Order: sequence, then C-alpha cells, then structure tokens
Amino acid sequence: MTIIHNLGFPRMGAQRELKRSLEAYWAGQTSQEELLETGRSLRAHHWDLQSKAGLDTVPIGDFAWYDQILEWSTLLGVVPARFAQADNSPVSLDTMFRMARGRAPSGTPAVACEMTKWFDTNYHYIVPELAPGQTFRIARESLFEQIEEAKTLGYKAKPVIPGPLTWLWLGKGDAYEGLADVGKLALLDALLPVYEQVLTRFKAQGVEWVQIDEPILVLDLPQQWQDAFGRVYQTLNQAGLSVLLATYFDDFRENVALLKGLPIAGVHVDAVRAPAALQAVHAVLGQEQILSAGVISGRNIWRTDLDKTAQTLQPLKEALGERLWIAPSCSLLHVPVDLHGETGLDAELTSWLSFAVQKLDELRLLQGLLDGTLDEAGKQAVQAQRAALKSRRESRRTHNPSVQAQMAQIDKLTRQRAPFAQRIEAQRNKLKLPAYPTTTIGSFPQTIEIRTARRDWRGGSLSDSAYEKAMQAEIEQVIRFQERIGLDVLVHGEAERNDMVEYFGELLAGFAFTQNGWVQSYGSRCVKPPIIFGDVLRVAPMSVAWSSYAQSLTDLPVKGMLTGPVTMLQWSFVRDDQPRADTCRQLALALREEVSDLEQAGIHVIQLDEPAFREGLPLRKGDWQVYLDWAVDCFRLSTSAVSDETQIHTHMCYSEFNDIMQSIADMDADVITIETSRSNMLLLEAFENFEYPNDIGPGVYDIHSPNVPDKDWMVRLMGEAAKRLPADRLWVNPDCGLKTRGWTETEASLLAMVDAAKVLRAAA
Ligand code: GLN
Ligand code: ZN
Repeated sequence: MTIIHNLGFPRMGAQRELKRSLEAYWAGQTSQEELLETGRSLRAHHWDLQSKAGLDTVPIGDFAWYDQILEWSTLLGVVPARFAQADNSPVSLDTMFRMARGRAPSGTPAVACEMTKWFDTNYHYIVPELAPGQTFRIARESLFEQIEEAKTLGYKAKPVIPGPLTWLWLGKGDAYEGLADVGKLALLDALLPVYEQVLTRFKAQGVEWVQIDEPILVLDLPQQWQDAFGRVYQTLNQAGLSVLLATYFDDFRENVALLKGLPIAGVHVDAVRAPAALQAVHAVLGQEQILSAGVISGRNIWRTDLDKTAQTLQPLKEALGERLWIAPSCSLLHVPVDLHGETGLDAELTSWLSFAVQKLDELRLLQGLLDGTLDEAGKQAVQAQRAALKSRRESRRTHNPSVQAQMAQIDKLTRQRAPFAQRIEAQRNKLKLPAYPTTTIGSFPQTIEIRTARRDWRGGSLSDSAYEKAMQAEIEQVIRFQERIGLDVLVHGEAERNDMVEYFGELLAGFAFTQNGWVQSYGSRCVKPPIIFGDVLRVAPMSVAWSSYAQSLTDLPVKGMLTGPVTMLQWSFVRDDQPRADTCRQLALALREEVSDLEQAGIHVIQLDEPAFREGLPLRKGDWQVYLDWAVDCFRLSTSAVSDETQIHTHMCYSEFNDIMQSIADMDADVITIETSRSNMLLLEAFENFEYPNDIGPGVYDIHSPNVPDKDWMVRLMGEAAKRLPADRLWVNPDCGLKTRGWTETEASLLAMVDAAKVLRAAA
C-alpha cells in the first residue's frame, strides 16, 4: 500500500475554538487549565480526523499556542534576556505569550519579538531572536507531552520540527546582519547537540519517523549555507530515527545536488508548486530512500484532478514501489478546516472546493487509485470528483464570454499616460493645492455604530434606504471633520467597507465568500480570504455613489478609494485553471472601468491601495522580474485611462523598497504614500538613491499606536524627507488607514499633522 501522511493540520479548530480560548485567557477571563484543555481536545479531534482518513501516522508539532516557530525557539530555550527567563527553569506558557505579544496574564510586560511573513504565505511567525554566543537547552516539555498524548489515544506519532538550518536562517539578532549571515552558522556547534537530545528523546518515546522541515532548500542559498547541510544531517542521523526531510513552496533547483548522499530516510517535495522536482529528486535518491510526493495543494482550496495526479505518479510508483509516499504539498495550516461548515455556497461551487478535511479524503482516494484498492464508496467518490471537475472546466461561471472578449482585446488598451511633468502641471492647475498638501490614507475610525449598521443591513433588519442614510451621515460627518481641521485632499472614510478586498469582491462577478473559511494569519488572528473562482466582471459601479456623495458635500477635492488589482489577487484564494497574471488582468480591467466612472462622476483624485504588492514576489530572485512585469502592467492597466488632470495615488504599507524601486516607479502613480514613520524616514533612502520621479507622501505618524504624534516631531521627520527629496513633491499624511483608531486620538493626531504642514509651508 502507498503510505499517505500529512505535514500538519490547521490548529485553530473549525469554529476557531483556539482563538476564543486564547483571547479569553489573555483577557484574564479563563484559567490556564481551561486553555490547556481546549488544546488537548482540539488535538485529539484533529488526530481522530486524520487517522479516520487512513493516515498511518499523525503529525505532532503542528499544534502551537501562538506559532510553531516560537514553540520551537522556546523548546530550545531561546528567550531574549528582557523576558527574564531563569537559566535552568522551564519556559512557561506565559513567557512564550509575552515573547509573542509583549504581555501575558503573568510576568512583567516587555517588548514583543518581531513577527514576519512565513515565506510567500500570509502566515506570520515570530522571528527567533539570537543573542551573541546564544546557548541552547531543552526548555519546554510540551512537544514530548503531545507525543505521549497521541500514543495514549492510540495514534502513531510523527513529530514535525523545523530543521536547524531553516530555524537559524529565520533567526535574527544584533550580532548578526541578516537572514543569510554566515555568522549564525557558528551557532550550530551549540545547537546540534540539543537537536540530537531531542531526537534521542523521540526515539525513547517509540517514535520511528521524524519530519524535519527545511523549506530554505527552495531559496537562493549562499555557499556556506549549502555546505552546512551535509554536516548537520550527518549529526542528526546519529539519533537513529528515520528522518523525512521536508521542503515546500517551490522547487529545489540547484539545491537538489545537496540531497545526494545525505544520510536521511526520505525527502518530501511540493509537487503542486514544483512538479518537476519529483523527477529531479528521484534522480538523486539512494536505493533505500523514500520520496514523499506532495500532490494535494496545501495552499489552495480546489479539488485535485485525481486521475491526472495518479497518472503522473504511476511511473514513480512503478520505480519506487512502497518507497513512494503521498501527502499534501505542505502543512494544511494555510487552508480552512472543513467545507461542511459552509451553507451559503451553492452546490455546484461547493463541489469544486476542498478544505483540509476534504483534502485528507482526496489523499485516500488517490491512494486507492494508485494501488487499485478503491472500494465501492471510493469509486463513487472518485466519480463524483470527476463530475465536479468537469462542471468546473465547462462552467459559464468560470468562463464568461464577455470577459473573454475583453481579454482578447486587452493588449490594445493603453497603459501609458502623458509624462509626469505634464500631468502634474495639469493636476496642480486643477486641484490648486498648497505646498506640502495634507491627506489621509482612506479609512476613518470604524465605530460600533458603523459596524452595527453594516451588520443589521446584511442581516436584513436595516432596510437599504435606512442603511444608505446611515452611511451618508457617516460620510457627512467625516467630510465636515476634515474641512474643520483643514485637510487638503479629503476622503469619504470607507465606513461601508468591512474589508478592503471583501467589499469589492462582493460586488464583482467571479468571487465567492465563505462563512467559515478561516485561515490563521498570526497568533489568534484569522482571515477569511475570498475565493476567485471565475472570470472577474464588474457588474455595476462599486464605489462611485459613496465617493460622489462625499464630493457633493464639499468644494475640496475628495479622493476616490479603491483596492488595487494585485492586492485583490494576493489576499484571495485564486483559481488555478489559468495563470495568476490573467486573473490579475481581469481584476485590473474591472478597476479600470471603476476608475473611469469615478472620473466621469467628478472625482479627480483616485487612490488604488497596493499594500500587498511586495508580498507577491516569488521566493527566488531570478523569478522576480516576471512577476513585477505583470504586476506593474496590471496597476497601469487600472489607472491609465484617465486624463492628465486626474491624479492617481497609490498606497503601500511598511515595505522594503530598495530592491524593487524601478518597478515602484514604473507603476507611475502620481503620488505614492508609504510607511516611513517607524523607521524615522530611513525607508526614504531608497527613493532618494533611485531619484524617484513622482510625488511622495512619507507617512509622518504611526497609526498602529494610539499615541498622539507631536507636531515638532512630524516637522522634523518631514525635514528629513526634504533633505532627500524635492520639497515640492512631498505630501503630508499618516502611514496607513485610521479604521482601527478611536476618534479622540484621530482628531488630536490629524490636527497636529495639519499644524505641522502649516509650519513647513511657513518655512518654505
Ligand atoms: N485605504 C485603506 C484604509 O485606509 C488602506 C488599508 C491598507 O493599506 N492596508 O484602510
Ligand atoms: Zn496601509
């Protein structure tokens, strides 16, 4: 029989039980024992699901109270000094929470550890903080306890742990320069013995297989890092366990050579992202080694083409026999738990989808197909899946003739506006803005009243007209407020938006929304990405009514607010039956129409937010340009149909711009607003070195904090900006939207900001 296994199951629970339990515990409403019990019962349930699906081991180590990398760092005793961890006592749960969040029900608050994106996913991990000469010891027992827990319940445990090289790569510290710093490799001397102790303890617990994740093997690796693999796995092999080395998210490419002769028992390959890796790894595999083919997507929610997959696997099956294993491509952490929770989706669409629980079923069906062991029920399920795939391929909902017709003509549409110098001249004449113009990023505080109105309207207890009135009242209040404090380019406040992608997605054909399709983003926070299942079409204007209502109230320019095509794509589950670039172009076309309608309606400043622009970058630098080319093209497609005097803005939150500056400039927005306040304008160096040609609003205060910024401080920051960029191209604005802020601090902060602009103008 072909062995099926899993790399990790979503830990949050189908009803986000872990989230609730964590937040109640953090708020001091429940005891730690209650929290521990939630964890135990979720694990038991998830193991049960996996074992019923026919997996012969269950992954252990995929459960985490906050983040699996943080779990591992604390197991290794890596706790920064400010958390006052005693050298030889265990790291407590609350210490781990303090590292993640700065505070916990017990222990002194301290600055939380840094958090950042996990490879190219929307999951965020806590960055291991490495001290110079960092030491290691086994400082948490929970992983070993979970293995016992699984054994007691009758499951065979396969621990899943971060590999030493990947864990070190992700680590940072004052003594080390960056991710690739070879200095970190010196820590291996101290680190490897502790890994060996861990593996030895697993062995004593009766563990046979351990999965060691080394996803950095799909990155561009400096030579010293490549060289370290041999030594590391020689050492880890000493413990006498069978090591499954797991990678995901991309291909090995040149790193496949590192696998040759490595003393490991098997390799896991992401065959969804990198189908060619199967052959490449097979070619370097030794006589005894296992190949684990990750063929069910752990990153997307579409049903697998079982026949096609079985066909690709067949030659490998013949060559490898029992040495071919099959699995999801990566941990199922990145997909929602169970499709059965969805009652709002129609039957056809539902039949196309597969969440974590369904993916395990697919795995078992695939096993049956490969081995020729499908029973009657299995055969029926395979038939049903074939029918679903066929309906998806042929559906009018996925292939809309009018969108196809537009797409066929898309190359004829202009992406080129007049030169910036000519545009900005026309815009200055039209808008008549002062020097250092002030504006905001779009949203104003989302009060309880706003949320209640939206909820009641959706639930049907508030009529369309009453809702419209309520939103208009919010808009009016926001407009009057902005006039009163003296802002120059106003916004309508985005009260009607629950979420910047969902709002537009709901108004576009081709999008679907789940009720419970939650995916963990970080800690207890989950997101519910929309599903782009079909051709995207704008059925009617989406934002024009709100923006023109706002404009009707004032003589000052109101900025129309849209979400850019790349961000819409990046924060959704995207159809897999056409290139992402094509889906993005469809989004761009829809937005292009919206931009034109806004312009027609008398909106002369239009912003397309692209906070996720950088997130789309592929893992390998060599692949960047292809992505950047189509991403920039889509942005330009959305924004180039307007006249010279219509001013296009874009906004990006905290981002490193240095290495993609040319593309940012190529987007050719008239004004870009960015996050720079937290780095004291350091980020601006990128714009200075590159001689960024258009206008810039370097956010002058951090909206993530409730603190009211000081006027003089903002004047100083703008002074820093003016040293680097011509003053007549600078705007004054906060660094992001204000929706999470309260009104009191918003008013005080914006007043101070407008005052700062006045000081700047007087000095100019
Ligand atoms: N216009 C959005 C807002 O103000 C931008 C949000 C973002 O950049 N993430 O809320
Ligand atoms: Zn932002």
